[in-house]
Amino acid sequence: MNNEQGEALIQEKGLKKTKLRLALIRHFIKTPHAQSYVDIKRVFPETTDKSTLYRNLAAFEQAGLIHSINDHSGITKYAFGAAPRTGSEHAHFVCEFCETVYCMEGLAQLQFDVPKGFKTNKVQTIIRGTCAAC
Ligand SMILES: [Zn+2]
Ligand SMILES: [Zn+2]
Repeated sequence: MNNEQGEALIQEKGLKKTKLRLALIRHFIKTPHAQSYVDIKRVFPETTDKSTLYRNLAAFEQAGLIHSINDHSGITKYAFGAAPRTGSEHAHFVCEFCETVYCMEGLAQLQFDVPKGFKTNKVQTIIRGTCAAC
């Protein structure tokens, strides 16, 4: 995915192409690991206030441009691409040293057969360990 494709995606999802949204999508495309609000804020220090940034992240998530990851750190992280759900599940790798969260695409999927009467809404796979950079 290059910048032009990312920018076109914003429009495809019915979102207005604002300067911030274009910058955000470029940032998500070029960043290989998940970003917390603080990470993102650091990249765009003076451009926006907190609520504007949160609002845009929420709009991106709703549109399926990014997905949020709950790595049990209490801090939501965001990564490029639609949410892992049926058909596009992927695991997340959490580095126990640098606390970086990576999307793990292309891993074999675990199958969970829930008992009768249960309905799976979301499967979240978290792998913990040490990343290649550590
Ligand atoms: Zn690491
Ligand atoms: Zn992911």
